[in-house]
Amino acid sequence: MAVYSYLLVWAGATLGQELGLFVEEFPAWEIFGWLLFLNLLIFHLIRSGFSERFSDPALTVPQVVLGMVLVTVLLHYSEMMRGALLALYFMVMTFGIFALDRKRMVWMSLFALLCFTTLEVIEALYQPERFLLMVSFGHWAILSLGFTWFVFVGGHMHNLQERNRQQRLSLEAVNSKLQEAMKKLEEIATHDELTGLFNRRYFLERLDEDLARAERTGQPLHLAILDLDHFKHINDTHGHQAGDRFLREFAVVARRVLRRTDLVARYGGEEFVVLFPHGDTADIQDVLERLRSSVEAIRVPELPGVILTVSTGMTRWCKGDTSDSLLHRADEALYRAKSEGRNRVQLAELSPVS
Ligand code: GH3
Ligand code: MG
Ligand code: MG
Repeated sequence: MAVYSYLLVWAGATLGQELGLFVEEFPAWEIFGWLLFLNLLIFHLIRSGFSERFSDPALTVPQVVLGMVLVTVLLHYSEMMRGALLALYFMVMTFGIFALDRKRMVWMSLFALLCFTTLEVIEALYQPERFLLMVSFGHWAILSLGFTWFVFVGGHMHNLQERNRQQRLSLEAVNSKLQEAMKKLEEIATHDELTGLFNRRYFLERLDEDLARAERTGQPLHLAILDLDHFKHINDTHGHQAGDRFLREFAVVARRVLRRTDLVARYGGEEFVVLFPHGDTADIQDVLERLRSSVEAIRVPELPGVILTVSTGMTRWCKGDTSDSLLHRADEALYRAKSEGRNRVQLAELSPVS
């Protein structure tokens, strides 16, 4: 904005000089050369980050001061255009509106009035033949009125801008809280609170997706249902808290033994499910066997002598399987694991799919 404004003033001054609106010795090149230098300096201070250490990193005050000085110099060399050129002071003040509060606007106005008054006094002393008291006073009065207007309207605009900024900040705060809440909600919607594993709803969604993928690509897919053995007995003998503790311990062990790509979820109560999107049947049987023995090795210091075991039924996806048929087959295998003595992994029999 400063560059456009200076270019405009420079073009105007050059034209004015051609038309004889400035005194003969108007040093346009020197004035605008200095301005270019000072503006490059300010630009550099802002660009390099040096101005960040000030409360006004846009360096509005120095820029406005520079503008005021330029206008005063132009007025000095002006002939009968002085009255019209006073408007340039207001153009400079407009920049202040964007960044300065009311107090600083008052200081900038006083500075401009000081510049103008000094100019008039100097001219009255050294060029009394050019000086007209009433005209000078009239100019001074117009400037004072104009600056008063700027201080009030500018202050109002500054307040509006400030309020806008505050609103934006509080909106941003609400936004980030909302995002946090959404994340928490998503966590609650997809996870089991007690064990931190995925919940049944999430598991069923993923099962449908993985079934569709298996159907499309023919890649292997295995499913296991795990049920803790005689869990009611643990609850009855050691209390519900003890039962909860073992459920959490089971989750820790399951996460440790299973791979990251295996999806383990709490299906309900003391029943868990695992979906294996990779690996062949023998591999997965090994993994489940390892999980079984790891569960058997769980020891809770506060409950010495209590041993937890798990029975597992597993099956592999066959063409045409639905989530129901897959779950049903794994459940049948689990039932067999239970009836054959528990604490074991049972592979489902692959009867022709009905
Ligand atoms: P089985 O070996 O045949 O599976 O015997 P079980 O006792 O494990 O089977 P049953 O289904 O009769 O009992 C499951 C028990 O799991 C009953 C219920 O009180 C308990 N249970 C279910 N959910 C929770 C839970 O969140 N916390 C605790 N502590 N116990 C639970
Ligand atoms: Mg059960
Ligand atoms: Mg059980």
